[in-house]
Order: sequence, then C-alpha cells, then structure tokens
Amino acid sequence: MPMPALAGGRQGAEELRPLVQLVLDALTEGARRRGGPVPRGGPAAVAAGVDEALGEAMPRDGRGERESLHTLVRMLAEGAADPAEPFCAAHLHCPPLAVAAAADLAASALNPSLDSWDQAPAAGELEIRVTRALAALVFPDLPAPDALVTTGGTESNQLALLLARERAAGGPRVQVVCGASAHHSVLRAAWLLGLPHPMVVDTPTGVLDPAAVAGALDELPVRALVVATAGTTDTGAIDPLRQIAAVTSHYGAELHVDAAYGGPLLFSRRESGKLDGLQSAVSVSLDLHKLGWQPVAAGLLAVPDSAALRPLEHQADYLNAGDDTDAGLPDLLGRSLRTSRRPDVLKVAVTLRALGREGMAALVDAVCDRARDLAAKVEQHPDLVLYGQPTISTVLFRPRAADDEAVAELRRRLLYGGRAVFGRARADGRLWLKATLLNPYLRPEDLDALLQLATEGITAR
Ligand SMILES: *Cc1c(COP(=O)(O)O)cnc(C)c1O
Repeated sequence: MPMPALAGGRQGAEELRPLVQLVLDALTEGARRRGGPVPRGGPAAVAAGVDEALGEAMPRDGRGERESLHTLVRMLAEGAADPAEPFCAAHLHCPPLAVAAAADLAASALNPSLDSWDQAPAAGELEIRVTRALAALVFPDLPAPDALVTTGGTESNQLALLLARERAAGGPRVQVVCGASAHHSVLRAAWLLGLPHPMVVDTPTGVLDPAAVAGALDELPVRALVVATAGTTDTGAIDPLRQIAAVTSHYGAELHVDAAYGGPLLFSRRESGKLDGLQSAVSVSLDLHKLGWQPVAAGLLAVPDSAALRPLEHQADYLNAGDDTDAGLPDLLGRSLRTSRRPDVLKVAVTLRALGREGMAALVDAVCDRARDLAAKVEQHPDLVLYGQPTISTVLFRPRAADDEAVAELRRRLLYGGRAVFGRARADGRLWLKATLLNPYLRPEDLDALLQLATEGITAR
C-alpha cells in the first residue's frame, strides 16, 4: 500500500482534489439513501447501519483511502440528522452555508494552530481583526471592544464566569444570579470554577423579571454576576436586557448576557432592537453555529475592552517566550484557555466577506419571518395550539387533543420514522413540540407539511 499523501504543502491541494470529489459523491449518495431529515428506524437501526459499514474500527491492514472515505462518509450522511432538510427543526443546530464548509476544508488542510505565532502567522492576525469587527457589533459605541473565539456558548459562559471570578479575586466570591430559563452551562460553569451554586430566580413568564432580580440582589451582601439570556433554549425568549442592566448597575453588580442564540440578531437592523441593553454587559456570549450558519464550532465571547481579557494571559516558554514577545512576535496564548486551536475564524471571515452584514441580516430576517409564518399557521389550525408569538425563530405548539405523554410519543414516532425532527420544551407546566427554524429557505408548503406531521395520529382522548 502506498504511503498516505499529506493535505498541505505545494502538492497537497492536488492530492486532496480527487478525495474531495469522492467525499462529495459519498455525501450525495448518503443523503439520497437517507431520503429524509433523519434515518428511519431509530437508534437500533442506526447502530446496525454503523456496524455494517464500519466492521472493525481498526483493522490490522488498512482498507485504503478511497474505500474508507466513501464507506464512512456515505454511512455518516445516510445516518445524519440533516438540518438542511425542511423537517429537521428541533434544535439550535443550523444548516451550515456551503461557503463556510468549503472554507473549513482549508482550515483542516493548512492546520494553523492558534497557540503561537509561528504556527499560525496569518490566521492569528485574521482572528484579531474579525473578532474585533464582531465585538464592535455588540459594543458599537466603545473604542476597543474585543472578542475571543470559543467552541460555543458553553465555553463562552465558562470564560465569562472565570473573568468575573478573577475581577473579584482577593474579595468575596462572586455569586451568580440567573433565571430558571438560563442555559444549563451557566450552572456547570459555576460548579467547574468553584463558585457558589447560582441563585436561580424563578421565571414563570419565561423571562427574567427585573423586580425579581432586584429582590435577589437586595438579599446579597456582595459581588454578584447577573446572567441574562437573549434567546432561551426552550422558547427563544429574550430577557428584558435594558431593565435588568439598570437593576444590576443599581446594585453594583455586573451583567453577563448569554446571547448564544439571539446575539446574531445584531446583524439585522430590523431585529437588533430586541437586544437593546446588551451594551451594558461586561461580557456577551454569541454563537455563529446557530443563527450564523457556520459549521460547529463558531462561538464568541465579546467584551467591552481588550483589557478585560488580561486575566487569561499566560506564559509558556515554548509558545510565547518573553524575549520573543519583546522582539515583536505576537502572543496568542492569552486568547483562549485551549492550547492547540483550530482557525475557526476562517469560515466566519469568509462568510462575512461573502455575504456582508446585509447578507447575514437577510438570513436572520428570513428565519424570523418563517417563524412568524409558522406561528400564524398554527393559530389558524383547528387542531393545534400555539404557545406564544416567537421572539426569534422558535415556535412552540401542540396538538389540541394531546396530553404530555401523547406529545412525547408523537415526537419519538416522527423521529424513529425518519419523518421529522421536532424538539420538546416544557413551558407553562406542559410539554410542547418545538420547531427551531434555522433554515432560511423553508417554503410555505414546507411549513404546512410540518404542521400536518404534527397532527398525525393524534386522536382526542
Ligand atoms: C446553545 C446555547 C448555549 C451552549 O452553546 P454551545 O455552543 O452548545 O456550547 C448556551 N446558552 C444558550 C442560550 C444557548 O442557546
């Protein structure tokens, strides 16, 4: 067997070309064999399909590049939940843009690692410029906002709590205050960082009540970090940021906004007003692998000023020796807690350049419009109940005649049948089907068919 080719170097692209063609063919074939949003048959059928394609995960002798790429890529596509399919609408799991996926191939081939300049000369410079442009979207009135690239909202929230902990170093520990609708990663971050268990404020209306936050802060003697959410996971609701910011500042507390979902509304002049008050935050999480049409990972943590990131500075002689830094070699190590790090910024940079802010806004507006359309169709549907008007692109609804158990069963039946992927969300004490619309190309007939699926097999009890 010949030695395997490398992806980089002067010959790398020519080695890649036929392999990429093979990958593309396998993707097409896999999608055709799947024939829907998700494979039919549920976990057992998928596991059997993986076993059949994979055989031995590490055979003694290799099967060769072409056979392996074709077999396993086709298997993965055949067994995928593909968010580009109109009936795949469960999670904040977006269909990535082709241009972003293509850019990601270059990131893999060149493999810059963003832990030192000598591994990523241009990638490091690109990251600084693109993250500053995105940070300026969050903090438009400030002179030097900055942002770190993360693996997503989970890491961004962790970093936000870490920075808050470090700002309070030497004093009493930071107490996180968040709503019951906050993302689970906020609780985990506090646990990981050795902070007290967050004070969780009840959110019976689905969003944080500023008066309830004031009540919580009133009882706290010391430093608090209030975590508000712009785009909750269950309903896409946005906490009243401006009022929460006012309460927070009145009590001398700090505000972090988890805008992992809602943050990219900032691209759209029409939708960005929903985030009024965001500028008062000490840090903001936002994900471009949700409302930004990037392949995972494409997270950001934006801060009002680069100086806020200073606690992350760190020295390791083999990556940023003092004399190298003094001699002018940029120091990248303080821009993440990770060491080896992919240039996730490349696909983002390419996308922003290709579409411009207006192009991003058009996609954001399209999914918000589709969510409003779907909600209107639910309202007009005799057999369906709407939870409420969507704030971003999440619509909760349920068959009128179904109890919680029937809703859960319906979701699993559609999933196992390979017909539709709905999410589930508990709100108002009941279980709802959740459609998170992130596909900007949904047509009215897709929405009708989605609702048709949601009423199937439900009989009055
Ligand atoms: C998705 C999400 C997260 C987690 O982000 P990951 O990118 O999955 O790590 C955190 N908070 C909110 C509000 C989210 O929607």
